[in-house]
Amino acid sequence: MIKVIVDRKKINLKLKYDRYQKKRGKPKILLLICSNCREKIALYQKDGPGWLKRCYLDRIYPIYTFNKINLNQKFFKCQKCGQIFGEKIIFKKEKRLAFKIDRNNILRKKLKLLD
Ligand SMILES: [Zn+2]
Repeated sequence: MIKVIVDRKKINLKLKYDRYQKKRGKPKILLLICSNCREKIALYQKDGPGWLKRCYLDRIYPIYTFNKINLNQKFFKCQKCGQIFGEKIIFKKEKRLAFKIDRNNILRKKLKLLD
């Protein structure tokens, strides 16, 4: 278990370690925020360096408004203002369900990991 702090609240998370993580490298936790209304969307485990191009469903910690998102829909939208964050895809190389994100519509904040 690791902890992150968001708005002075501690949140316990269990990082996911699997073959995808091994391939990409050290995980970090990002807080995803709507760029339009600043609503918190979810926490996300990003494995390895580089831009966040897609959010894999199995890396999303569904706290905040992500809980209310209907995963059967094609588009991933802000539950507060309706801004579209991305489109649901299957990342073919790995056959993983993901959202291909529009990087202008999501703000990413890297959180410090505490033991
Ligand atoms: Zn919004």
